[in-house]
Amino acid sequence: MDILIRGARIITQNANQEILEGDVLIEGNKIARIGKGLSGEGVGEVLEGKGKIIFPGLVNAHTHGAMGLLRGYGEGLPLHRWLEEKIWPAEKNLTTEDVYWGTVMGAIEMVRSGTTCFNEMYMFGIRHMADAVSEVGMRAVLGKGVYDKPDSRSVESEMKELREKVKEIKGKYPRVQIGVAAHSVYACSEELLREAKGFANQAGLLFHMHVSETRGEVFDLLREKNMRPVEYLDSIGLVDAGSVLAHMGWVTKREISIAGKNKASVVHCPVSNMKLATGGICPVSEFEDAGANIALGTDGAASNNSLDMVESMKYALLLQTHKYWDAERYPVEKAWDAATINGANALGLNAGSIEEGKLADLVFVDGKSVNLAPLHNDLRSIVYSLNPGNITDVMVDGEFVLRNGEIVLLDEQEAIENATEVAHDLVGR
Ligand SMILES: [Zn+2]
Repeated sequence: MDILIRGARIITQNANQEILEGDVLIEGNKIARIGKGLSGEGVGEVLEGKGKIIFPGLVNAHTHGAMGLLRGYGEGLPLHRWLEEKIWPAEKNLTTEDVYWGTVMGAIEMVRSGTTCFNEMYMFGIRHMADAVSEVGMRAVLGKGVYDKPDSRSVESEMKELREKVKEIKGKYPRVQIGVAAHSVYACSEELLREAKGFANQAGLLFHMHVSETRGEVFDLLREKNMRPVEYLDSIGLVDAGSVLAHMGWVTKREISIAGKNKASVVHCPVSNMKLATGGICPVSEFEDAGANIALGTDGAASNNSLDMVESMKYALLLQTHKYWDAERYPVEKAWDAATINGANALGLNAGSIEEGKLADLVFVDGKSVNLAPLHNDLRSIVYSLNPGNITDVMVDGEFVLRNGEIVLLDEQEAIENATEVAHDLVGR
């Protein structure tokens, strides 16, 4: 159904980052026109946008949606102890039903905080994730995870399962794409990395990986290969415009230049990095100067503990400002780009801005919210002061998935109860 939104304040995120007062006409799943005084004749629904701020749906470029089941579990540990002592043992007992409810809960949380698309990496239950995402109405790239260390999983079995899952999911869900996610250099052998990337290239799928998250990962690889992670990945053909590299907190100038030259996408995950005490800070502006595409991610809710991209934008700005002792080095406009258009570009999506011809993925904010007043500057006010309670409506693909503060396509309370039940059961198994 066509929808006309009248008289809203529009944060366009177009090339000039214009902020307009005007109307937006949605035809089907696309933004058809933007202007003033557009005619509502023949349009299915005309909405009053006065008092609303509209921005493009945020793109969470690195997360693990189902990990919300382990939110608040294993608090206070550094990354490798957290993974080895808490997360991986619990995840060994996961069922597909757990993954389904965890992803439903994660998708609802993302919608409520203004995210319309996410880039997932998970090892298990990919079809149940696709069902969950579709039932909430979101968009996602679901990276089927592969790893062959430290378990005794083989390259052959990982690649066989990957091929099967791609066949099962590709083209079956209108808002879901499948991708390839290799966990990391410490969980994947060189042979598996080469095979997985080769398959992603051949099938035209996004390749997604954790890279240089901790200092330990860098020094272990230096001992093993005499190369740093980005040098090593480049030497085997993994650093290119089809690769999304999450974290990149412990990198040298040479690695920054390799990622930039090859136009890779780098995902800054400031909250997760600080929470897991990884120490290294992704040098966002240096990557951008070198030519890399900088996107933003929350990482999983178990290491964040939220999936709120606006909160992550704020932390990204604070962390970069703090790192360089420079309030101008990473401006608010750049953080907006990372959370919207750059995320969409990383995922190959025709989204991330409110422009004619783009997918209609929109977020509506009550511009009269007390914590946003007096709105001296829309971009800054939202990044530094918005909370999810200010978001009234969210549209994905031209369809409202949050309307007047209510999740539209499924029963939210029932979903939270079911997710809570399976989460408590999971940690007791
Ligand atoms: Zn991660």
